[in-house]
Amino acid sequence: MVVGNWKMYVEAPDAAKKFATSLRKKARSFAGAEAWLAPAFPLISPVAVDLKGSAIKVGAQAISVHAEGAHTGEVSAKMLKNIGVSFAIIGHSERRAAGESDELIREQLTAALGAGLTAILCVGEDERLPDGSHFAQIANQIHRALQGVVPMGRLVVAYEPVWAIGKQAADAMQGEDLEETAIFIRKILSEALGRDAVSRVPILYGGSVEPANAQTLMKEGGVNGFLVGHASADIDSFIEILKACKK
Ligand code: PEP
Repeated sequence: MVVGNWKMYVEAPDAAKKFATSLRKKARSFAGAEAWLAPAFPLISPVAVDLKGSAIKVGAQAISVHAEGAHTGEVSAKMLKNIGVSFAIIGHSERRAAGESDELIREQLTAALGAGLTAILCVGEDERLPDGSHFAQIANQIHRALQGVVPMGRLVVAYEPVWAIGKQAADAMQGEDLEETAIFIRKILSEALGRDAVSRVPILYGGSVEPANAQTLMKEGGVNGFLVGHASADIDSFIEILKACKK
């Protein structure tokens, strides 16, 4: 699976709809890979309408912890579900940097799962440290986010090392390092959720995935797909990455 995190890259409904229509029309070219798209809030509806009836999933880049009520500026999981959203990205490093705590992230996970959405939990170290202590940061993020959470088969973990985000393919993680980290994440997931979580929770890699490195990372990295930022805003790049993930 390949999840496109559009961030604020795609700005207008017309551009979003053009992208969605084109993706739907070209779906056969990446058959065997799942395409998921996370537009910014104002673009979710136009994209969801366009993709209705297709296998392409539409999601949100963030959700509120609140289910309803007096929360100005917040958007609940239920409101998103009502307009065709099936997943939410939670704990993205750009939101952690804006102040989201592990506790808030856990509440968002609970809200998303409770409303029937799939939750994509983002984790990843700020930097790789020679003594390997960055692994503890990843483990802590997973344990804290999943404490008391019952994923009900709708959890995805996106491993996104912060140092690799928003750069170019050459700056991304190498396949060998990714494979090692994916094995570590599976071990932590099995501690947090039990052994069968290992086969039920897909692990994605995010951090400067582009057409130039997608195939190698897929072959060597031991992950189930990608969470893609900047390259997902370009239809040709996104499709090339999807093709690299075809079974
Ligand atoms: C992201 O921020 O989720 C991401 C993976 O970004 P990029 O692909 O631009 O590194």
